[in-house]
Amino acid sequence: MSRIGTGWDIHALVEGRPLILGGVSIESKKGCLGHSDGDALIHAVIDSILGACCLGDIGTLFPDTDPKYKGISSKTLLSEVMEKVRSKGFKIVNVDTTVILQSPKLGPYKDEIRRCMANLLGIAEDCFSVKAKTAEHMLGELGSGDAVVCQAVCLID
Ligand code: MG
Repeated sequence: MSRIGTGWDIHALVEGRPLILGGVSIESKKGCLGHSDGDALIHAVIDSILGACCLGDIGTLFPDTDPKYKGISSKTLLSEVMEKVRSKGFKIVNVDTTVILQSPKLGPYKDEIRRCMANLLGIAEDCFSVKAKTAEHMLGELGSGDAVVCQAVCLID
């Protein structure tokens, strides 16, 4: 039986933090505020996988009150989730994502993000898609470049 899951995440963008999306460092004046490294794309992907497998959500699995996860790479969190997924006998078929980021432009990083994420998920590169949008300077903090939103859908077998 195939299963589908969706994920969504938002992080504030502030000066003095690195911008990491999909496990890739992106040159930017501002980065994601967060308890972990703030990788909103990986967080959305994790929630889509957990949703498809009915295994809860990222906040329950990795509470932001737990000092163990302070500053942790979200790639490590995704690896832990993948262990759970594999132990239940599930396999990722494909993941499709959208990043809504006013600036900088994500275009030059998309291939690297797809490579990195496909590798973490154990799928082919053409099974992980990342689409980039701006907020057309609308929607408050999103349009002023003070926040990033990521959405993910995944199919699991
Ligand atoms: Mg998050």
